[in-house]
Amino acid sequence: MKLDRSLQLFEESKKLMPGGVNSPVRAFSSVGMNPPFMKRGQGAYLYDEDANHYIDYVASWGPLILGHCHPQVVEKLKEIVEQGTSFGTPTEIESKLAKLVIESIPSIEMIRMVNSGTEATMTALRLARGYTGRSKIVKFSGNYHGHSDALLIKAGSGALTHGVPSSPGVTEETAKNTITAEFNDIENIEAIFKEVGQDIAGVIIEPVAGNMGVVPMTKEFAQRLRELTKEYGSLLIFDEVMTGFRVAFECAQSLYGIEPDLTCFGKIIGGGLPVGAFGGKKEIMEYLSPLGPVYQAGTLSGNPLAMMAGYTTLSILKGNPEIYLDLERRAVMLEEGLKQQVKEIGIKASFNRVGSMLCMFFTEVEVVDFKTASTSDTEKYAVFFREMLQQGVYLAPSQYEATFISAAHTDEMIQQTIEAAGKALKKVKE
Ligand code: PLP
Repeated sequence: MKLDRSLQLFEESKKLMPGGVNSPVRAFSSVGMNPPFMKRGQGAYLYDEDANHYIDYVASWGPLILGHCHPQVVEKLKEIVEQGTSFGTPTEIESKLAKLVIESIPSIEMIRMVNSGTEATMTALRLARGYTGRSKIVKFSGNYHGHSDALLIKAGSGALTHGVPSSPGVTEETAKNTITAEFNDIENIEAIFKEVGQDIAGVIIEPVAGNMGVVPMTKEFAQRLRELTKEYGSLLIFDEVMTGFRVAFECAQSLYGIEPDLTCFGKIIGGGLPVGAFGGKKEIMEYLSPLGPVYQAGTLSGNPLAMMAGYTTLSILKGNPEIYLDLERRAVMLEEGLKQQVKEIGIKASFNRVGSMLCMFFTEVEVVDFKTASTSDTEKYAVFFREMLQQGVYLAPSQYEATFISAAHTDEMIQQTIEAAGKALKKVKE
């Protein structure tokens, strides 16, 4: 496989942007190679600048559940772009998207559109603090909620100590108010609530974590989290930026039978354009400006193109519930095929899958939290990744990401991927 033009473009971009990229993982650092520069996407395929093509399992990090350039999404975008790209005023398409979400998800009575998942989680925290009048936030090890200061915090030395900034530039003062708890650990979260429950404004969690590989909450943990937050008057915030409209149209909360107080969205809700959103009970959402005292705003929020891409994508998903059955069937097919290869070749691997999100970890340990996820051999993943790319399969360039199936994948593509994995795993074994 030739990547000459990509390499040339990368050399140029490195002079212009830190690391040559606008989001760190795109630099391919953890898989030890230079990134292909993509030129075009169609269906389940990505095409790079050197005319290589790949079966895409990244889907722009999740949004493209219908595949690249879905004809209806493209057509609607063409229609709306001719009417103007941004007005900074209310538009009907914003309300259409809002209504569709509110009608579909029982915990959402009102919603606000923003421009990214980061904005959604950042503002949900501000709203939780404003609404409860409290300052502390609980997040979980291995969960990622975007890059706002309050959420770029890792665990302190003990369960109940203050968090520690996970990036220079995040102050100790900010870290003081973020407590990092252990995912799926009921005793740990009970201890935290016992100690500081009255100060906790909100608990934010990825119901199916997708940023330490794929790791679902257990039902018991989810239930206990709901009980504790209710008991102490803290808000339960589900970060469904990745899982929203992905693991089910009604989102991960429907799989757990739990209504969070606030839900954050991103990715699929924007149909491939920059959108985030957060929503919840009316009483809480009315605390936002202009009705309430908690401030939030955005020049391009509710942008008509982005709203149209999101509305069209969600309408297709809602109107065709069989899409989710197909996505899951193909995800199971891929998972089972990979398991078979792993067994035949004699590699230690462990799998997690929820709907069309899956992850193969290079460890024999069952992955249930950050600690167990960290036992995965990332060197082996890097070899696997490079071998798959060589064979035209584009996986996430990091072990700790999800593999996404889209509606554009076919059984043949899955089969081809399983065969490629067999060859790649043999290289991993060498
Ligand atoms: N929350 C989760 C669960 C995510 O996976 C991400 C991004 O991957 C974010 C929040 C941040 O979203 P964005 O990258 O749109 O700011």
